[in-house]
Amino acid sequence: MNRSLIILCVLAQQFLSVQSQTRIIDMHLHSYSQEVLEVERYDHYGVKSVQDLETHFKETYAALKKYNIVKGVVSGALGTVEYWMSNDTDDRLIQGLHFFHPDDLKMDIDSFEELIKSGKVEVFGELGPYYSGTTLSDDVWQPYLKICEKYDIPVAVHTGGGDPGGTYSWAPKARLSLGDPYLIEDVLVNYPKLRIYMMHAGGEDWPEHAIRLMAYYPQLYTDLAVMLWVEPNTQRYIKEFLKNIKEAGYLNRVMFGSDQMMWPYAVGKSIDFLNSIDFLTHQEKEDIFYNNAARFLKME
Ligand SMILES: [Zn+2]
Repeated sequence: MNRSLIILCVLAQQFLSVQSQTRIIDMHLHSYSQEVLEVERYDHYGVKSVQDLETHFKETYAALKKYNIVKGVVSGALGTVEYWMSNDTDDRLIQGLHFFHPDDLKMDIDSFEELIKSGKVEVFGELGPYYSGTTLSDDVWQPYLKICEKYDIPVAVHTGGGDPGGTYSWAPKARLSLGDPYLIEDVLVNYPKLRIYMMHAGGEDWPEHAIRLMAYYPQLYTDLAVMLWVEPNTQRYIKEFLKNIKEAGYLNRVMFGSDQMMWPYAVGKSIDFLNSIDFLTHQEKEDIFYNNAARFLKME
């Protein structure tokens, strides 16, 4: 091969790798009821929340298509997740369930088992024990975890704090200390076969605890979630987290999640931010965007 042909091949290869759109799995999407969406909210950047169920679904789903998000775990109350699933024309969604305390479910444990058996819950979470003044290690959660282990249903648990000031308004039982990843250690010990991932990687509060817990328990994964977009300050923390976990050697258990909440534009914002991080290689980004989650979800 002559020199110019080689250069041409290299250029073509580079062009193709830039062109080939990364497949993405989003481990952290939210759906909300009309009632919840109706309350007007603004994010840190002054962007107004989407205020009706249909638009919320449509805009989020359009973002999934735009960014080649082939699978997304969507949590919410049963009814709203059902609405999303019934409109999932391309089979992109995985059904989750979002609540803070088992009492919120308003069903006994047998009904919960039936729900699992009928395939209505493919991921148990986002669970927010932090918001209900509990931890996943508390007795009240154990029957649910047992069933998840039995049926090999992945569990997704909120770690880190919540919205600053939330304890004074909508989540009076929330305590910062309850978001410490170490508080799920007993769950990891008692259910060694349980598939489980932390959400938000310990937040701004315990990124190092998240890393150490992943070191001790090789089955434990984490997503990045809201940390990727919600404030410049969380972006600073998650960047540091990614640098540290890369050096620690557990980057292969880190998964992308957008945690778009009521702001569908955040899906793109999260992807752009992760792509902008210069100390991660192309391959490492591919793994975070897709491969690690595909392995965790047993899609391979
Ligand atoms: Zn979330």
